[in-house]
Amino acid sequence: MPTDGQPPARSDPDASRPRDRHRVVVVGGGFGGLSAVERLKGAPVSVTVVDQRNHHLFQPLLYQVATASLATSEIAWPIRALVRHRPEVTTLLATVTGVDKNARRVLLDDGSTLPYDTLVLATGARHAYFGHDEWEPFAQGLKTLEDATTIRRRILLAFERAEREDDPAREAALLTFVIVGAGPTGVELAGTIAELAQDTLAPDFRHIDTQKARVVLIEAGPRVLAGYADSLSDYTQRSLEQLGVEVELNQPVSDCTADGVVYGGKTLNARTIIWAAGVRASPAAEWLGAPADRAGRLMVNPDFTMPGHPDIFAIGDTVTIAGPDGKPVPGIAPAAKQEGRYVAGVIKARLAGERPPAPFHYKHAGSLAQIGKRRAVIDFGRIKLRGALAWWIWGIAHIYFLIGVRSRLSVAISWLWIHARNQRTARLITQGQANEGRKPTSD
Ligand SMILES: Cc1cc2nc3c(=O)[nH]c(=O)nc-3n(C[C@H](O)[C@H](O)[C@H](O)COP(=O)(O)OP(=O)(O)OC[C@H]3O[C@@H](n4cnc5c(N)ncnc54)[C@H](O)[C@@H]3O)c2cc1C
Repeated sequence: MPTDGQPPARSDPDASRPRDRHRVVVVGGGFGGLSAVERLKGAPVSVTVVDQRNHHLFQPLLYQVATASLATSEIAWPIRALVRHRPEVTTLLATVTGVDKNARRVLLDDGSTLPYDTLVLATGARHAYFGHDEWEPFAQGLKTLEDATTIRRRILLAFERAEREDDPAREAALLTFVIVGAGPTGVELAGTIAELAQDTLAPDFRHIDTQKARVVLIEAGPRVLAGYADSLSDYTQRSLEQLGVEVELNQPVSDCTADGVVYGGKTLNARTIIWAAGVRASPAAEWLGAPADRAGRLMVNPDFTMPGHPDIFAIGDTVTIAGPDGKPVPGIAPAAKQEGRYVAGVIKARLAGERPPAPFHYKHAGSLAQIGKRRAVIDFGRIKLRGALAWWIWGIAHIYFLIGVRSRLSVAISWLWIHARNQRTARLITQGQANEGRKPTSD
């Protein structure tokens, strides 16, 4: 008997469910997983969504939580609440640790297992440090709400500590913010931190001039936003520089420490380093013992099944598959959603005894990145937009893709406030100690 008053862990969390329905287990309540669940509506299945977090996260706006522009609850929603009107869908908060392909069971972190008839793995990816995991404590990546609030805490604490610092060198290090990686997330972080320092914080501090803060964007490649057209990359770099961001191109980082970052043979003293370079897929390929690419992405069949296992699908950032142009489908939300909808169609057709749907065809709607207030770039392929018009489209598109009227209104009001008053209402230092980020030695 348990001694803590808790019931014993059930070895099969699905044991009480009716067995007559085909059991679909979807691991991951992100963009891909939830799209599959949504599209399975009406199918003769019972669905179990397993996620290690209780919320679905709108990652494209995560950087706004990290920079105190939005609150966590504006970009995340409890998965359980999202499927509340679907009695055939069960939500489990659990971490998957493996898959027993032969027994058709998913292994969970508490030692229990979950049976499936069809499995959909949609476990995404995480940031990666190119084999230098020892950099992680100093160079925070951005993938989860916890990552975002950690970055927010570090940025805000750096200003707070600088306000109390007497030593000019230490003050300078506290007021230096380094972002590694000039893809969309790095660009968005750099532009917003610069605006935070220039506009939002400046009137609130008495001893430091926050406008003297340095924001340094370091990129190993020759240009920012490498996936975009050259003209948009150039515009983005110019816009960042106008905001005061120092853009360092062709500079692979060779070390990250508590003191700062090393690149191009020099050390830049900086107390806040944010990692926006490199991703690694979830361990789905390891769970299955299946072939993967260099980033750990599972290589799937054209219908997203695992080779030799038609009952196992994998989608989204955790897989690699070729797009219509022969290049890998990009690891972005629309791709994961399209893949989720597609595999739901395959499952439905199978259960109905129908022919499988036409082969998957990824449709790329465009690439969008915000640089700062009223500045964004959009690459629709033939049409390329930049500046204020692009920013409006960027804003409307992001509000449109949020879930629910409350979130949309709330985000719109938060943005209005930033634009009208330069105020960022989510400027809260939460979790951790007030002295976090201090060097453990002399200071
Ligand atoms: C900072 C940032 C900014 C981005 N900006 C954009 C953008 O502007 N536009 C765009 O299109 N895309 C953007 N992306 C990419 C986009 O978010 C991803 O491509 C998309 O989320 C992939 O969907 P997915 O379903 O594969 O994975 P995710 O949406 O990441 O979902 C994976 C889910 O699996 C769960 N999970 C993982 N491992 C386990 C486990 N072992 N057990 C149980 N659950 C598990 C996770 O908790 C998560 O809920 C951004 C990503 C990041 C990190």
